[in-house]
Amino acid sequence: MPTKLQTKPQQSIIIEEQKPYDLIIIGGGPAGMTAALYALRARLNVLLIEKMILGGLASTTYQIDNYPGFPDGISGQELAQRLENQIKKLFPKIIWGRAVGVKNGKHFREVTVDGQAHFAKAVIVATGSEPAKLGVPGEETFTGRGVSYCAVCDGAFYQDKNIVVVGGGNSAVEEALFLTRYAGKVSIIHRRDELRADRIVAEKAQSHPKIYFHWHSTVEEIIGDKTVTGIVLKDLVSNKKSTVQTDGVFVYIGYHPNVEAVKGVVKLDERGFIITDENMKTSAPGIFAAGDIRAKSLRQVVTAAADGAIAANSAREFIEKGH
Ligand code: NAP
Repeated sequence: MPTKLQTKPQQSIIIEEQKPYDLIIIGGGPAGMTAALYALRARLNVLLIEKMILGGLASTTYQIDNYPGFPDGISGQELAQRLENQIKKLFPKIIWGRAVGVKNGKHFREVTVDGQAHFAKAVIVATGSEPAKLGVPGEETFTGRGVSYCAVCDGAFYQDKNIVVVGGGNSAVEEALFLTRYAGKVSIIHRRDELRADRIVAEKAQSHPKIYFHWHSTVEEIIGDKTVTGIVLKDLVSNKKSTVQTDGVFVYIGYHPNVEAVKGVVKLDERGFIITDENMKTSAPGIFAAGDIRAKSLRQVVTAAADGAIAANSAREFIEKGH
């Protein structure tokens, strides 16, 4: 599906800047863009680093129904586009590339992108998370050929087809509902007999005529020829395996934090998410974290945006006090 959001151009734009920035923000999702909005409005000299697409994972969400102020919902893409328009009015400096190393010096933080070091008084890490993989045979082979982690991107390829969605959380159930607009039949495969998704979403799916459920079941293998033709399903109660025909497998079993750039620099929890206090301060002075990358209980666009605003404010205070 074509996107109007700004994506990484063919060649990286490197902005030469010898003078340290006030603030480097790594990640252009809702948390990073909101942090940029608040920091730019506070007249900080900001560099935003994004590896792929402004809007992050939220821009791949078909419909966001619980963002305050939008009674009819808003598509993730539109919300991201609006945020991008809002920060672009404040002329942010953006580098397209992957931040690989963050170092915490006495006076400045250093962030390396494409071999070039950039310096700032403070850094906000808002690198979000990426979809978890099933880790079963066939998954890698058929990724892009029937295995997908993005219903908004790939759903339209499955007009009147028979597809499965793996997972029982909000993502799996909401994206299964979205996929019913294309597919003839959508089967949700969940390893328990109760959905983790919010009640209102779960009820909608359970009463949907195109949605079916395989409870207490896991995908053991994805099979196919040129593209996916089926899965091997294991019933965890009977331990029996069966082959289920399907044209596509959409995987929504949670997300892993993108913490490579700050591993060993800030404290992480046992699942690898960055530990912060309520002001988004990490264990390293001058380094803040915001959004899905943080260890927290509710990962939503609204909490990512709130984190971004708080992180920018904390970074501003840190810069003004000099510590
Ligand atoms: P999630 O809430 O962590 O759910 C992951 C689901 O996948 C769970 O049902 C889990 O089963 C299952 N699962 C995990 N590992 C598995 C494996 N190896 N094999 C099979 N199944 C596996 O993840 P999510 O749905 O992506 O949501 C992530 C966060 O974003 C959540 O906080 C969610 O509320 C939020 N979110 C919110 C909205 C919204 O409010 N509009 C939309 C999307 C996401 P168990 O249940 O058995 O653990």
